[in-house]
Amino acid sequence: MDMTNAGKTIAIIGAGPVGLAAAAHALERGLHPIVLEAGSHAGHAVRQWSHVRMFSPWNYNIDKASDALLQGSGWNGPDRELYPTGAELVERYLEPLAERTRLKEHVHTNARVLSVGRVGFDKVKSAGRENAPFEIRYQSGKGPQTMRADAVIDASGTWNAPNPAGVNGLEAIGEAANAPRIAYGMPDVLGGQRARYANKVVAVLGAGHSAVGTILDLAKLKDAEPDTQLVWLLRGDHPEKSFGGGASDKLAARGELGKVFAQLISSGGVRVETGFWLTHISPAGTQLRLGAGSACCGRHVHVDELIVATGFRPDLSFLRELRIALDPALECPPSLAPLIDPNLHSCGTVRPHGARELAQPESGFYFAGMKSYGRAPTFLMMTGYEQVRSIVADIAGDTEAAERVELVLPETGVCSRPVTASSGSGSCCGGPVPAEVDACCKQEADVKVAGAKGCGCS
Ligand SMILES: Cc1cc2nc3c(=O)[nH]c(=O)nc-3n(C[C@H](O)[C@H](O)[C@H](O)COP(=O)(O)OP(=O)(O)OC[C@H]3O[C@@H](n4cnc5c(N)ncnc54)[C@H](O)[C@@H]3O)c2cc1C
Repeated sequence: MDMTNAGKTIAIIGAGPVGLAAAAHALERGLHPIVLEAGSHAGHAVRQWSHVRMFSPWNYNIDKASDALLQGSGWNGPDRELYPTGAELVERYLEPLAERTRLKEHVHTNARVLSVGRVGFDKVKSAGRENAPFEIRYQSGKGPQTMRADAVIDASGTWNAPNPAGVNGLEAIGEAANAPRIAYGMPDVLGGQRARYANKVVAVLGAGHSAVGTILDLAKLKDAEPDTQLVWLLRGDHPEKSFGGGASDKLAARGELGKVFAQLISSGGVRVETGFWLTHISPAGTQLRLGAGSACCGRHVHVDELIVATGFRPDLSFLRELRIALDPALECPPSLAPLIDPNLHSCGTVRPHGARELAQPESGFYFAGMKSYGRAPTFLMMTGYEQVRSIVADIAGDTEAAERVELVLPETGVCSRPVTASSGSGSCCGGPVPAEVDACCKQEADVKVAGAKGCGCS
């Protein structure tokens, strides 16, 4: 390690799993992390989906440097083969990590970052910029505060910025006005929100894991409250894309979820509306009228409640004074985009990556965790742990460790079309990647070797 980098201060935005892991890696390297968390406790975003059972087992959910800190505090760790809920992730891992290890004095809760800049430099001024410390403004219980840091890792996630219901990525007309009957993400329909959804007509909009999980929970609610009616609204025409990788998914729980969901849909227990391009939401008596294409006429559905599960987007507003480069479509670091772009990759498998892919024109600033994926889906926290291991090594000046890849990610087994004779069999998109090619699946490797771009099976 370059000793001139020892003792550097790193501001870490967000005390989610990845922000805390970044702080643990920083401590391990003798750096000084300061974690600013908007919520009243670490793991604030995970607490919002505490009822959801995770599809990755403990083995994949615990960061190495955090594990070492916890072991030193007499932690009674969980069985690594089990699958925690969000609540268990908080209680058994994030809370002890933030409150019962050396991290405690480095984590500041009720501290919402409002803006980040560089001392003495507005966005336009260049000469000497890279040597100026960062200035971070945040709101605490005591009012506005300022701190300085040598580097900043933005691990603030995307949970607070769900995508709207409108098909164009814009709010549907009437979406804000009808907000009391619309929920975003994964409301706890079997727990705290049960009364809101029991015996109601409930539409779920979306086709990803959150939509699938919510529909499965609503189906359980319907078993107990038989007048509950379910409507699944999909923008696309292929419900089977939501059935997942099944047995090909290396995360067995995620594969299993898809299988159960496929059975539910084929049983006819859910009204499925494919190709539904929601544009208008308006009141209709005691219900909501969800219109595709027009406010008055044309295709529409009447429901009591709408749950929007169309993914998330990063909040970039507080980074306005920094020089940030983003992929125009995904709003993620440009070098990361080809690895995670759902337009190019039909399989969700992503190779590990680190500081090189996450670096920004603003030297010393990095995105990490869920936020680093921008609008792309299928983020795994173990990807984030590898990101921050590499980023912190980079900040510490250990280039060799920053470049090294220390993680093998599980394949999702998810393809945008079924595996065909031409794409091979036995695994997603033609089988495992040959070791000498940097690709997400065999088909992408073949395409790359041939000098072209993309996955080839999408
Ligand atoms: C329902 C659901 C289920 C999931 N299941 C899995 C799974 O099984 N396995 C898996 O690997 N991943 C899963 N994920 C993805 C998962 O969210 C992440 O892997 C993990 O939570 C990402 O951690 P993070 O630290 O990047 O972000 P987050 O957990 O979102 O943490 C970000 C933190 O930043 C804080 N913050 C936000 N804005 C500010 C600000 N301006 N200032 C200060 N603090 C701020 C937030 O309050 C939050 O605490 C799931 C996600 C969801 C929504």
